[in-house]
Amino acid sequence: MNETRRKGNFTGGYIIYGYKVVNGKVQIDEERAEVVRFIYEEYAKGVYVKDIIRDLTNKGIYNRGKPFAKNTIYNILKNEKYAGIYRHNNEVFENIYPAIVPMDIYEVVRQKTDSNKYGKRSVDVVYLLRNKVKCGYCGSAINAERGTAKNGEVKRYYKCMGRKHNNGCKKAQVRKEVLEQYVIDNIIEKLGDKDTLEYIVDQLLELQERKIQENTALKMLVKEQRQTENSINNIMSAIENGGTSNTAMKRLRELENKNEELEKQIRIERAKTACRISKEEIERYYKTALQQEPQMLINYLVKEILLFNDKMEIIYNTPRTLSLDESQGFLLYDGNSKMQTYETNGVCKGKTDFRLVMKF
Ligand SMILES: [Zn+2]
Repeated sequence: MNETRRKGNFTGGYIIYGYKVVNGKVQIDEERAEVVRFIYEEYAKGVYVKDIIRDLTNKGIYNRGKPFAKNTIYNILKNEKYAGIYRHNNEVFENIYPAIVPMDIYEVVRQKTDSNKYGKRSVDVVYLLRNKVKCGYCGSAINAERGTAKNGEVKRYYKCMGRKHNNGCKKAQVRKEVLEQYVIDNIIEKLGDKDTLEYIVDQLLELQERKIQENTALKMLVKEQRQTENSINNIMSAIENGGTSNTAMKRLRELENKNEELEKQIRIERAKTACRISKEEIERYYKTALQQEPQMLINYLVKEILLFNDKMEIIYNTPRTLSLDESQGFLLYDGNSKMQTYETNGVCKGKTDFRLVMKF
């Protein structure tokens, strides 16, 4: 990979807005590069991000069919690649991304984003992926830790705790900023894609239907109620035929109480079934989450990340719904069932939830 980088070639993965890959080389996508320059110039002049978005929208410039999200703009503003710089581990490559934005404008913007709340402060101090990352090899937690580089600079890394305690795991540590940015970019990229989102929504709707059809708890309750009613009827006809023993009366009251209890539980199960999430609600869930600042976006969307040296698997949260009575809230996708694999650009096969596999 480093050899590829040194040759100035693209090492794979998705390509950021404003660029395209031609024969293994990153090239400027002129039309989009114009948009990137506009965003940088306006922001450098002090125009607010929301106003930049408004101006772009007024000009009919959209991102994947809809107005630019704030996060997308901030990600563009913070990405050094637009100034022609690509960092990997401690190496800087200036021969991979042709610069779209002049260094002086990039610097002005960097100073501004560093001082605003989205920029350096919140992202640097907070470990965004805390408690969400697991080692793909040994299953240990991956925690963020400070480390000191050879030149004395303090850096933060995500490290496999198994490896730290010498369990023989080979998981390499990852720079904190690199991993966090990568995760955020990927989430926005994947879920921001209209086709991917539509596909996920369809899959979730299908699952919901299946789950409702398969409501075994309800089936059991109905069956039990039928049996109880039969027993009640039997005792009633015995009574009508003159057999009124105390035991029969006592048993009748028990059965009637039981029947009432079953009736209540059946109502609860039916309410759950009736409480479906609509297509619009599922879409809104993801779209709203994508508008959030990084911390919230990750909290909303990421259930778990399995980290390997060459890839990661993001397991996403799915929308949750509540029945009319809040205490009966339930998870549409309980997460205990088998997860399904959703390969990038691949086909979705499994049963519940979804995960995206991203090769580094
Ligand atoms: Zn490990």
